[in-house]
Amino acid sequence: MHYILINVVYKALLCRRTVKIDDSISFSCTMITKMNSIYENDENNINNTNNLDTMLSATIHQYQNPLVLQQTPKPKIIHGEQVLVKVGATGLCHSDLHLVNGDWKKSIPLQLPKIPGHEIAGWIEEIGDSVPEGLLQKGDMVAVFGGWGCGICIQCKNGNEQLCSYTKWPGITVDGGFSEYILVESYRFLIKIEDDGDKSKLSVEELAPLTDAGLTPYRAIKKIRQMLGPGKVIAIMGIGGLGYYAVQYAKILGQTSNIIAFDRQDEKLQLAETAGADVTINTSAYEKQNIKEQVLTATNGRGVDIVIDCVGTESTVYNSIRLLNKGGVLVLVGLFGNQITLPLVPSVINEYSIIGSLWGNYNELREVIDLAKNKIIKHSIQKFPLNRINEVISLLKEGKIIGRAIIVP
Ligand SMILES: [Zn+2]
Ligand SMILES: [Zn+2]
Repeated sequence: MHYILINVVYKALLCRRTVKIDDSISFSCTMITKMNSIYENDENNINNTNNLDTMLSATIHQYQNPLVLQQTPKPKIIHGEQVLVKVGATGLCHSDLHLVNGDWKKSIPLQLPKIPGHEIAGWIEEIGDSVPEGLLQKGDMVAVFGGWGCGICIQCKNGNEQLCSYTKWPGITVDGGFSEYILVESYRFLIKIEDDGDKSKLSVEELAPLTDAGLTPYRAIKKIRQMLGPGKVIAIMGIGGLGYYAVQYAKILGQTSNIIAFDRQDEKLQLAETAGADVTINTSAYEKQNIKEQVLTATNGRGVDIVIDCVGTESTVYNSIRLLNKGGVLVLVGLFGNQITLPLVPSVINEYSIIGSLWGNYNELREVIDLAKNKIIKHSIQKFPLNRINEVISLLKEGKIIGRAIIVP
């Protein structure tokens, strides 16, 4: 019985990566044909100077090639719910690397060219005529929520638009934030940042990564927070953009749980310490079999009750499962790899639970922004101008970005 349950959960995880994304793509592709046709008219226009009708964008023209910095047509509002946002900052995520590299071209067949960048914040530039009066005005600072659901399916009505089968993703299935402007499909996908005075001042560069790096681990840890408490041990695997926030949420929601941070780089582990990790372990320093011994030593023999895997490779899953105590939970968040292998017998006899956690929902993003406005979470960001984006992509690939790289157009 337990085996069946684990198997079902595991298969569901695998299916969600392929089937759900495919579903959304087939819908999105028809919706974006119109946008792609704009680029075709612009092919000979790469070096033109900016004017009111164009904007500087970094676009994927061919997989595995550098992004092309070019002037593209500034989008125009074509229906009343849409909002044009002047991009203030966009975070660079590992998912952008997968997209640019073509790693997901089978599950997410993009119609190129495409502007990537899905962690977006900026200011209202123009609003459609169906936006409720007084809701938004030019100049308002906004965070762009990423899962643009249909609004009427069960998932959307439950508030989980990121799980909608018809979700469009800015920077993935439709043009995103590595650009001067982004056309947001509806005002429903924006969160206005009220200016509550100096105490809550949040910069646009701090706001942008909250929409994914700050949001995704928040949902993951909220899912298991009832298991946290005195004497419990939670491990965060991978201290990249997401992991840094994950350590902070483990501290905030963990009710005195002990937090262990794992990474292959000492600089990232130092960052985890500043975020509240009680123990840090450099996984590159040990053979796989010895990591568990290190953990047992560091936790006085307690082991680990929950692992939040912010990486998602064969190796991190292997390490994570081996660390878990009986009844332990592995939460899969990172999408670095393609497939994972679970050891069957230990998974059954120890009653492990494997949970997938995708992105976060709109209200969870509101909560994260509230934490940031009240200075309860910290940020670790490095700013770069849009014209250096290809260099920054190389730095991220080489593991040289500590925290989140933020691209400013
Ligand atoms: Zn991302
Ligand atoms: Zn929906």
